[in-house]
Amino acid sequence: MNNKWDRMERELERLKSDNLFRRMTVFESPQTSQVKVGGQQQHLFSSNSYLDLCCEPKVKEHVRRVLEEYGSGSGGSRLTTGTTSIHAELEDTIAEFKRREAALVFNTGYMANVGILPALAGKGDIIYSDELNHASIIDGCRLSKAELVIYRHNDMADLEKKIKAHPGQKGVIVSDGVFSMDGDIVNLPGLVELANRYGLLSMIDEAHATGVIGDTGRGTEEYYGMEGSVDVLMGTLSKAVGGEGGFVCGSRTLIDYLINKARSFIFSTSLSPATMAADTQGIRMIMEQPQRVQKLQENIRYCCAALNSRGIKAESETAIIPVIIGEEGRAMKVMKLLKERGYYISAIRYPTVARGSARLRLALMSSHTREEMDGLADALKECISLAEYE
Ligand SMILES: *Cc1c(COP(=O)(O)O)cnc(C)c1O
Repeated sequence: MNNKWDRMERELERLKSDNLFRRMTVFESPQTSQVKVGGQQQHLFSSNSYLDLCCEPKVKEHVRRVLEEYGSGSGGSRLTTGTTSIHAELEDTIAEFKRREAALVFNTGYMANVGILPALAGKGDIIYSDELNHASIIDGCRLSKAELVIYRHNDMADLEKKIKAHPGQKGVIVSDGVFSMDGDIVNLPGLVELANRYGLLSMIDEAHATGVIGDTGRGTEEYYGMEGSVDVLMGTLSKAVGGEGGFVCGSRTLIDYLINKARSFIFSTSLSPATMAADTQGIRMIMEQPQRVQKLQENIRYCCAALNSRGIKAESETAIIPVIIGEEGRAMKVMKLLKERGYYISAIRYPTVARGSARLRLALMSSHTREEMDGLADALKECISLAEYE
């Protein structure tokens, strides 16, 4: 008899034999640099809560107040009954932080990308996308009816060659600001120059740049001293900001257009006021306490130096420091050995990164201490060499 579950079972078996089967880790504590996993205390070096704003007392207090006043759910989509003054306040705060005319909040960064790209580019248009862009950008391109042209990673000569092959066609150039698996930074001057020269929209995803790069954590534009130059500045509130939600900011025209055209914005119930309040207070904390950002940047320099001094190649100006291991099984082995020593670091493998480039993706937080980073570097050195000789 034909068993309708056969196909799924076979695929799961295949994933297991290829070391690609995934499962979730359950954390039994809040997201800080010290967590409890499986009943054990671990140093966490893989969180996106780069500025430790998830557990910040001032954020929690503000959320409690808004929860008490507005309750738990929002009761509607943004264009019906789901926009409260708390939502409007968040959008004003984002626009102020990013120094733009206006901002719009989506329910997640993923939903922002899958909503924005199909709204901006349709049939007959082109989307030029970096080969290492985040999956949500790739899915946004797939949902759009536009032609997709992938250019080599951060390679502006390749991008220009591909633009020239499509003379006169309208469209968008889209790139991560900080690449999520490699931690490197987009060539913004090159990208913006090409977009303006060829009449294309520039779109940058600030997920890992917001709160991390630029002297006051305002992101990629601040890092390059190019504020106001990107047409469509998108980001997420779920990483350094410590809350939830995606955003886009730019001109009033852009925002009005997206309010009317972005389907993932229009056809989903808005986030709760309490979540919005966490985001607003998180951004306020970044604006009020640039020293948090500076502490994170100091940690990045210290940790790279600690790793280098132990013979581990590490080079990053962002909170993401990839340590490439290569083979998937070996990366999983190193992760397991580190865990036994009290360090929780996620191994990242195909399909998130290319096959054979599995890695430990170190992510730093402003609260990591020098002792912790030295301890991590020692443990990493030991575990990499142990995994090699098994
Ligand atoms: C995390 C991430 C997203 C998705 O944001 P969420 O709010 O988690 O949905 C989008 N783009 C990039 C580059 C990311 O790293």
